[in-house]
Amino acid sequence: MNILRTLTDLFLPRHCTVCGAELVNCEDFLCNVCLCNLHWITWNDTRDNPMLRSMWSHHDVEAAGSSFYYNSAYNFRNIFWATKYYGFPRVGEHLARLSFPRWQALGLAEGADAIIPVPLAAGRRWHRGYNQAEWIARGVATATGIQVYSRILKRIRHNETQTRKNPLQRRENTAGIFAVRKNSPDLNRLTVLLVDDIMTTGATLCDCIRALRETYPSIGIHIYTLGWAGNK
Ligand SMILES: [Zn+2]
Repeated sequence: MNILRTLTDLFLPRHCTVCGAELVNCEDFLCNVCLCNLHWITWNDTRDNPMLRSMWSHHDVEAAGSSFYYNSAYNFRNIFWATKYYGFPRVGEHLARLSFPRWQALGLAEGADAIIPVPLAAGRRWHRGYNQAEWIARGVATATGIQVYSRILKRIRHNETQTRKNPLQRRENTAGIFAVRKNSPDLNRLTVLLVDDIMTTGATLCDCIRALRETYPSIGIHIYTLGWAGNK
């Protein structure tokens, strides 16, 4: 038992990100009940699964995985809101570190040389103070020992929010928004793990893949997102 944490919890109680219950000594960010009830994704195949098949450029991706289902109707959306909007990106980092080893055992990030988080537009990053995908990437890096490269990709134009767009509109809205920075290291013939917070239609990830392939035609690409907005 961590005596210091017990004492700090006494005076500064921590609360579950999902249900708000007071956390006990051994719990971090989520209570054990919410952690057990999380809609974990249970596929066992990283090379052929619903997430991969739902991407229009899936033929460019060797492997993909996501930790749990995202549905804005569930309280579990609080995990993403906390990670993305409310200044608690450590929630995403923690859950990625906790859940990635299962995907690694299934071959995700096998042979990967770099982890690349999906970048935010510079203005949005400045306003938010962080990029949630970078924090999730850090969680994966802690679990795997693979280095994070957050300055390979950049967003070259700001796109409108995707929230109310259909898959085709999302694809048009994200076309050509990413590019590889000049003077980036040569990643040709290497394998990278592209990381984002949530995959909805995959349009954002597909444009990252396009940008990477344009610069590195022989790059191997794996994908990991903390949440997947597909059907259970
Ligand atoms: Zn809870």
